[in-house]
Amino acid sequence: MCGIVGFTGKTQAAGFLLDGLERLEYRGYDSAGIAVLDGGKLETVKTTERIKNLKDKTENGKKVKGTIGIGHTRWATHGAPSHENAHPHTSQNRKFAVVHNGIIENYIALREELKAEGVDFVSETDTEVIPQLIEKYYDGDFFSAVAKAVSRLEGSYALGILCADCPDTLIAVKNFSPLIIGLSKDAGFIASDVTAIVSHTKDILYMEDGDMAVLTPEGVKLYDSKGNEISRKPSVINWDVAAAQKSGYDHFMMKEIMEQPGAVARTIESRIRGREIVFDGISLDGEKLKNTERIEIVACGSAYHAGMVGKYLFEELLRIPTEVDYASEFRYRNPIINEGTLTVIISQSGETADTLAALREAKRRGSHVLSIVNVVGSSIANASDDVLYTWAGPEIAVATTKGYSTQLSVLYLLAVWAARILRPEQSARTEKLFDELVKLPELIEKVILSEPKIKEMAKRCGDPESLFFIGRNVDYAVSLEASLKLKEISYIHSEAYAAGELKHGTISLIEEGRTVIALACYEELFEKLLSNIKEVKARGAQVIACAVEGHTEIAKEAENVIYIPKTDPLLLASLEVIPFQIYAYYVALYKGCDIDKPRNLAKSVTVE
Ligand code: GLU
Repeated sequence: MCGIVGFTGKTQAAGFLLDGLERLEYRGYDSAGIAVLDGGKLETVKTTERIKNLKDKTENGKKVKGTIGIGHTRWATHGAPSHENAHPHTSQNRKFAVVHNGIIENYIALREELKAEGVDFVSETDTEVIPQLIEKYYDGDFFSAVAKAVSRLEGSYALGILCADCPDTLIAVKNFSPLIIGLSKDAGFIASDVTAIVSHTKDILYMEDGDMAVLTPEGVKLYDSKGNEISRKPSVINWDVAAAQKSGYDHFMMKEIMEQPGAVARTIESRIRGREIVFDGISLDGEKLKNTERIEIVACGSAYHAGMVGKYLFEELLRIPTEVDYASEFRYRNPIINEGTLTVIISQSGETADTLAALREAKRRGSHVLSIVNVVGSSIANASDDVLYTWAGPEIAVATTKGYSTQLSVLYLLAVWAARILRPEQSARTEKLFDELVKLPELIEKVILSEPKIKEMAKRCGDPESLFFIGRNVDYAVSLEASLKLKEISYIHSEAYAAGELKHGTISLIEEGRTVIALACYEELFEKLLSNIKEVKARGAQVIACAVEGHTEIAKEAENVIYIPKTDPLLLASLEVIPFQIYAYYVALYKGCDIDKPRNLAKSVTVE
């Protein structure tokens, strides 16, 4: 969470900082600020509004002079979003300025210690102890003061630090929160992720936990946690700058919805040679697979919902018991994991703090860890035994769409690949699934064509106070995602229920006029779902249904019906989620919500 940028070079810093922050705004946006150093003087500008306000205040940065600076867009963890709590934070004598992503867990003890020594604090944040500690340890050596201060910190932190005595030196530190370095001939950059710097350089150095880096316009020096200088090979990123721009759409979310056929095609086709599925560079092989007694899928949010689809898929196709766990629960509940468990980690950003901690826990207990991640070189990718990337390209809207769809695609590939090894006796079933899988991008394209109809339906159905999604089997897994999408961006309360479970309590909430969205695509259970629809209709509900083409009988029960093309039941999730991404988008649009940056949320959840 939160976006950090930093620059040291021969040109003015503020313009870059503000543009970079704007690109990182999806990571956190409750306040923001920059600090620029010029002639030994630190100037800070902050806002409790969006980056646009910071740009207006500084005439796009022109009013803030200096060739070195840091910037931050905050997702508050300690202290309300206010001017005082906005970053950068400075030390008492304004010698140091710090931007921080993460949480300092021992900040209360450090704060008390510093207060007893006469230090005054101006914010309620955990971050402010960092510049104050650095100032305490400073005796003219910037590097060693930072190293001493950092050795006192417990928790997660990515830091960008300036010292008023060092006119061109920027220090960066990483521990559990993401931070990358951009390399270029006359400048050094730091950022929380590549979107902030991709238009300036494609040469990236991924920082690892415990790393400290000293950047000057002349170059970068990297040190390990013991202070030894180290060298690491830079990576060249192949992201297209346009991929992180809106390209004519009003919102990133709609652009990303429309990109799904291409993203899914890229994810699937890059692994297919003839009829073979090839995962380059993974160490999971037939031998390890045959020793797998259980699969444990661990994720958060929408990635967890993709994992739910994975459970149905793996159990049906591989006949291996599969559990899906929230990373935040898994990491603290003494899970039963051992060498016989394959842990599948799912995370779009590859930086999700809870998921990363769960991954480490699974590894500690001897499990083989395979991750499904979108961001190359991210912490989760680096810490896993194997990584299968979802080639979705940059996803900027906070509510995921193509990230989720490409996660599903990798799960399908993995299931078919493993079924061919483990269940040769079921090859007819597996090959049928494979044949449908390669058609998926085309089918998604077809569903997207119903956008005008869904837009119209969103307008007609208005702004319900609360609604229910119901489904069975894979339809249920999709209900969870469809409900989350709506909640995230339109702020409408909704619940996703396994359709058969509704009558065990929650049907008491169904009353005249209540909207129920019934996902009835899983054909084997179609009749059962039809009965559930009748049950809610009998209690006054208005029904929107989603069914596979040909099931026109559902139109007798539902006021609105969305049809999707027929496919393998195990692939349904990829098609039926699309109408509800579009539905959530238009409901939020008609309500006037901030679609790409919904309140209280942030894209990459790097705090627990
Ligand atoms: N914990 C810090 C704060 O609340 C940093 C939060 C962030 O990562 O944006 O200010």
